Amino acid sequence: MNEQVFQTAMFSLLNDLSRIIQRAENVRKAKADEILGGLMNNNSVLSAKQDDVLQGICQLASEMSSQKEIGGNTGEASKNDSLTGLYSIFNRLNTEKSAVTSQSVLCYDEESGAFFRCDNNDVATIDYRKKTDRISERIRKFSGNDSEIGQCLDLIYEYCSDVPYVSGKNMKCDLSVYEHARLTAAFAGALTLYSRDKNSKSVDEIRNSDSLLLYTADFSGIQNFIYTVVSENALKTLRAKSFFVELVMANLTDEITESFGLTKANLLYSGGGHCYMILPNMTDSLKKLDKIHRKLNDWSIRSFGSSLSVLWETKECSPSDFMEEKAYKGIFTGLSSKIAKKKFRKYMPADLIALNRPGSCGDKTRECSICGRASAYVRSGGDHCDWCAAFLEMARTITDADKCFAVLKTKKHEKNTEFFTSEGTAYLAFLSGEECNEEAEKDNVIRIYCKNRYISDEIAKSDSSRIIAVCDYAKDKMMDDLVEYAKGVKRLGVLRMDVDNLGNTFISGFGNNVSIARTAALSTQLSVFFKCRLADILSRENYNITVLYAGGDDVFLVGSWNDVISAADRIICEFEELTDGKLTISGGIGIYNHKYPVARYAAETEKLESCSKHNTKHEKDSITLFADDGSNTYSWKEFREEVIGEKLKALEEFIGSDDSDKGNSFLYKLLEYIRGCESDRINIARAAYLLGRMCSKNGVVNQENAKAFSDRMFGWIGNEKDRKQLATAICIFVYQERKCR
Ligand SMILES: [Zn+2]
Repeated sequence: MNEQVFQTAMFSLLNDLSRIIQRAENVRKAKADEILGGLMNNNSVLSAKQDDVLQGICQLASEMSSQKEIGGNTGEASKNDSLTGLYSIFNRLNTEKSAVTSQSVLCYDEESGAFFRCDNNDVATIDYRKKTDRISERIRKFSGNDSEIGQCLDLIYEYCSDVPYVSGKNMKCDLSVYEHARLTAAFAGALTLYSRDKNSKSVDEIRNSDSLLLYTADFSGIQNFIYTVVSENALKTLRAKSFFVELVMANLTDEITESFGLTKANLLYSGGGHCYMILPNMTDSLKKLDKIHRKLNDWSIRSFGSSLSVLWETKECSPSDFMEEKAYKGIFTGLSSKIAKKKFRKYMPADLIALNRPGSCGDKTRECSICGRASAYVRSGGDHCDWCAAFLEMARTITDADKCFAVLKTKKHEKNTEFFTSEGTAYLAFLSGEECNEEAEKDNVIRIYCKNRYISDEIAKSDSSRIIAVCDYAKDKMMDDLVEYAKGVKRLGVLRMDVDNLGNTFISGFGNNVSIARTAALSTQLSVFFKCRLADILSRENYNITVLYAGGDDVFLVGSWNDVISAADRIICEFEELTDGKLTISGGIGIYNHKYPVARYAAETEKLESCSKHNTKHEKDSITLFADDGSNTYSWKEFREEVIGEKLKALEEFIGSDDSDKGNSFLYKLLEYIRGCESDRINIARAAYLLGRMCSKNGVVNQENAKAFSDRMFGWIGNEKDRKQLATAICIFVYQERKCR
């Protein structure tokens, strides 16, 4: 890491961290800074204060990371009892949709290491004294070297993501100390490098010149890569491959961070196969990026042929662009139109030659039994390729709390697959904490990735360690085990869903309140919801579900069909509570035989999802089941309250108690008449006759119930909307009552 970057980034982090001490001790900011400085073994990092240019850069960076209603208002309440909690980021979002204000914020709990929904976000829930004690304990061990930037960012993430940046009477601050600190460190680092590169000493000049680059990378062909799985190991391979995409992205952004000499704060966002970074616009910035991407591309073509490629683009911008609404939107729209153009011409001529070289996609004599790819990497005697073998091991590593993913300079085992760095080749290995230490002693470690938490204290302290957040909820079973636990018919439910209009929300959702800090806070809350909160929701109900992918803004999961329907509704309810309806989700649920090919159901449920996005009766916010013809598409509310809560419940109450085989044959007949109603009204009369016969057949004791049930059903059949809902409810009921496979 560059020495001056270390100084400005660390200074920015500590400068915000002292706000916690300030509130705990009820002292002025300067005094809190002094206390914090006194805790450190070596407070030379605070020397950025003595350099006018660096000091100016830190101030500019802090201003960029703030918001206009906060602006220069760094004043604090004089008494602790008037401090306020963190205001929900969703309150200023899409305000035309709902005027309700949300009290919910997803907060990190340092004790359990999990995220929880904090509903009463007033000051009473923030224990500044306890936070100060914990922070002090960790800061005392700092000696002022590079690796501590990462630790300091972790510390701020753990203790400051639920703390508002400014706090005081009537203050509605939706910017957390964590979000402000990490953005300030990112901007300060990038601007420091720019100023050094251009030998620019004037902060005003830096402020108004294109001194920054917003960088984005995007996986193209990610679906083909992930869903091309043909074997019985599909579930494991799928999860491993979606995790692998995140791992490649993490390694890419870390390579970029290191080659520039920046900190991990410069990664603004990563998820769903996309990322954004803040970089300096130096003379050789594009050259550096090009070099890394070339290495990545070469490796990906060698390993996977054309199935996985990463596109990237940058947009030049000035610090003042970040502080002006129109210019700010322009940065993001400009960047996304640039990358969209690149998607049309994915491969450079040299790549095409490499792709067509014999052997690059394998010889045709052996085929991998898992991915089906003809591959030179299928070893004689084996039946799958090296990568599929690695994906299976990766799947085991994901569920093993004591193992991590290591990028090594040389192979530890013969089977370690090749990976990429900007300098050359690397190898991917799955190691225990002890094995990591051994490799570190041999200076063989480039980087270590742990899933959700560091696997040991040594690894947490190492500057080559990173965390990859992943929703790891999985009933680690084969597909046929998942269906075995299904209620009624033994079928697999497949759910895909994502947030509606998200791209537009990021650009226009905050209206003239837009800022980089809000954009960042919104993506943090969404990531936390889909990566961490989702796992809590699923485990609370102990659903028979395996999450294949959750992150960015989308979810793809499989499980017992009845659990999948129930889980979809739970997820939607939690999301609604968090966002107060400011954001909505649309999805599709398909029900399949467990032997059905993954690639097919992935594509089909995507169609169901798209049917929900085009619901003609409701603005997105919908669910589609079974078929994409609109006959089973509902708003979530209609599905929950009228299909499940009313129709299905009525069927369960009346027929559920009856002999189910008899009930089912009656329902099949009824369903046939209901479906026939649209084309021929005679079917209404047939349905009425059927219902009447059912009443008279029923025992005398139940006669009254039967009459009430039959009247209710008949009323529903006469009304188009109710009739449609009833047909869906009958389908679900028949599925759950069916005894056979
Ligand atoms: Zn394979």
